[in-house]
Amino acid sequence: MKYLVTGCAGFIGWKVTEFLLEAGHTVVGVDNLNAAYDTQIKRWRLNQLEGTPNFHFHRSDICERDVLRTIFEPVSTRDTPTFDAVINLAARAGVRQSVENPWVYVDTNVTGTLNLLELCREFEVKKFVLASTSSLYGENNPLPFSEEASTDRPLSPYAASKKGAESLCHSYHHLYGIDVTIFRFFTVYGPAGRPDMSAFRFVQWISEGKPVTVYGDGKQSSRDYTYLEDIARGVIAGLKPLEYEVINLGSDSPIVLIDTIRLIEELVGRKAELSHQPFHPADVRATWANIRKAEELLGWRPQVRFRQGITALVEWYQTNREWAKHIQTD
Ligand code: NAD
Repeated sequence: MKYLVTGCAGFIGWKVTEFLLEAGHTVVGVDNLNAAYDTQIKRWRLNQLEGTPNFHFHRSDICERDVLRTIFEPVSTRDTPTFDAVINLAARAGVRQSVENPWVYVDTNVTGTLNLLELCREFEVKKFVLASTSSLYGENNPLPFSEEASTDRPLSPYAASKKGAESLCHSYHHLYGIDVTIFRFFTVYGPAGRPDMSAFRFVQWISEGKPVTVYGDGKQSSRDYTYLEDIARGVIAGLKPLEYEVINLGSDSPIVLIDTIRLIEELVGRKAELSHQPFHPADVRATWANIRKAEELLGWRPQVRFRQGITALVEWYQTNREWAKHIQTD
């Protein structure tokens, strides 16, 4: 099979691409390698993929539709359809940053998704996968969040942009019969994770003896941390025909923020120096996934427990510490 993976140098896109290549598929990867966070880590991930047979990388922007079209255009008529599926993992991610620059979130997450859907229509790609987020559930739903919960009150431009992307996916499914699977991921963590997210930051900050910024008191907020490889397996399981589905990929096992810090302290062997900041109004206090639908439709369950996954992240950090300690985290 031949897949287009956008955001292939990103945290999740890298692992999905790796698993697809390992399974013998061809992957055309697109990423603009933007500087939303330190690009060293994107280059490291890309290095792991480059040189793999059947991996073709385009440094392109999903907002540039005409450039994207050249990637979809078949080399010969025998090549149609161009892709068996488009997996759209490119996005501006991050809740607090979306408050600073909401335009780039709407451009990338809404218009970028629209560009890809249009090209799927034009080139008759039958399957589209969208990365969406647990942030859509906001503050007003009972825990654990099921896919039917309300997503009417996004707390951040990031969540609002993902709601827009989800809505466009539904329109394109309805109008053109494109098979769409939307995954709402819950706080993904693991080796080579995002330096703008808590797990990576806590590991770097505690390892290097830097103050650990905590929004709020650390006891009131919790996250349903989900291991990278579990997420990638879920995305790949969702490539089968499903018509139109929205599916949570989470751990069904929320962890309180301060307990994450305590675990990392234990694994790193160093105490954290906490620096408390006010809780940010764009942040959701608690996330917790109901994963029954993923189990029923995909036979998917997370395999990696939190301690095991954080241990893998700490080990990755220690192996790569010489350069990873310089990664910018703000
Ligand atoms: P990431 O930022 O590491 O990866 C996104 C990649 O997309 C980056 O490499 C970036 O350079 C690329 N990109 C951004 N804008 C682009 C553009 N205009 N054109 C081409 N490439 C572009 O983020 P991630 O954590 O891997 O997230 C992947 C997807 O999953 C995103 O859609 C994100 O919103 C979603 N998601 C992630 C999490 C999480 O916990 N990591 C949770 C919920 C949802």
